[in-house]
Amino acid sequence: MEKEKILVHICCGVDAVWALRKLKEEFPEAKLKGYFYDPNIHPQEEYELRWIETKRVCDDLGIECEKGEYDVENWLKAVKGLENEPERGARCTVCHDVRLEKSAQVAKEQGFNKFTTVLMMSPKKDFEVLSQVGTKIAEKYGLEFLPVEFRKGGGVEKMNKLSKQMQLYHQNYCGCIYGLFQQRKGLEYVPELVKFSKDILPGSTEEKLLIKQIRTFAENLGISCEEEEFSFINWKVLQSIVKKNKEPVFHEVLPYSAPIRGILRDRVKQIKDEKDKKVVSFVKSNVKVWLVDDVKNVRLERPRYITDPIFVFENVEVKPDEKFEFQLKTEFDPSAKTQILFVGNTSGEKLFCTSVDKLKLEEVLAFIEKNKEKLQTGYIRINPSEVFGKLV
Ligand code: SF4
Repeated sequence: MEKEKILVHICCGVDAVWALRKLKEEFPEAKLKGYFYDPNIHPQEEYELRWIETKRVCDDLGIECEKGEYDVENWLKAVKGLENEPERGARCTVCHDVRLEKSAQVAKEQGFNKFTTVLMMSPKKDFEVLSQVGTKIAEKYGLEFLPVEFRKGGGVEKMNKLSKQMQLYHQNYCGCIYGLFQQRKGLEYVPELVKFSKDILPGSTEEKLLIKQIRTFAENLGISCEEEEFSFINWKVLQSIVKKNKEPVFHEVLPYSAPIRGILRDRVKQIKDEKDKKVVSFVKSNVKVWLVDDVKNVRLERPRYITDPIFVFENVEVKPDEKFEFQLKTEFDPSAKTQILFVGNTSGEKLFCTSVDKLKLEEVLAFIEKNKEKLQTGYIRINPSEVFGKLV
């Protein structure tokens, strides 16, 4: 009889830690191999983190594990148009299809006769849907899909216990940025927090310091204050370099631009006039450059999730066929928090909203002092990192 050879698709160490033990128990004679394939994960650092932990779990059990390619661009293309689908909806079905299809291909190429996935471990995934998808894909490749009920018999508790014991990294979101926005219930897209003028970064110690300085000043004048903290998804540029004909170009990066792997060298293909800017496209990449007169006037009217990298140049001349070099590393922090300070009587009329970085601290303090009386019946809202606020 042919020896069972099972390729196990793995998405993370936590889901694998008990599932692999269960497979070993149920198929003691089988050859098991892990296949880590997660092109849906954003950002790449998170993907690497999940890979390291997966490898640690497999090494601990003496199971070989292969790291699949991080082909995020293809994943983004596959789910295009499904960005706003809810979790467990059409986007997730495509996401499972992509991962199981690739795993089946690899299983076939490497001579495995069965395959399965530890996605079935997650309480957030639909076991029936995964079984159906897996079985359909397996048939296509002449394989057998193993729908293993990892969660049965206290599987989730065992997984939690083992992952605690091994101190595994426990992610707090499924993986893609679209799901992340949806998981943060009540979180609205806040363009102010991903603005260009980054004098004070949201969630920074500098922001906290400023809040405390204003609060102390106001309280010393006998004005009451309240602080409010809220979560947001902090997208940030770690490194960006643009060179035109080998000379550096001063630029900004549009929030939620996808990172660029390595150094991208490209040539200008087209320069198109739009209402408030010129848009430069390139020959071989999806990078765009917006040419504007004043970068501070660039506004994002609609939510922009991780998508084409867009660089913004202020008063830079670009000609057809010119050669450019781009580098871009970005990251996001799903658990970042920022603060708002309310000064005065919050049950009264709102006197104004402001972002302190644009106005300078002294101006705000002077306003508070001058309007001391008014602040007994009204209030001001201060978000140091906000961009749209204006003194009225
Ligand atoms: S929420 Fe999870 S399963 Fe759904 S598309 Fe995103 S990464 Fe894939």
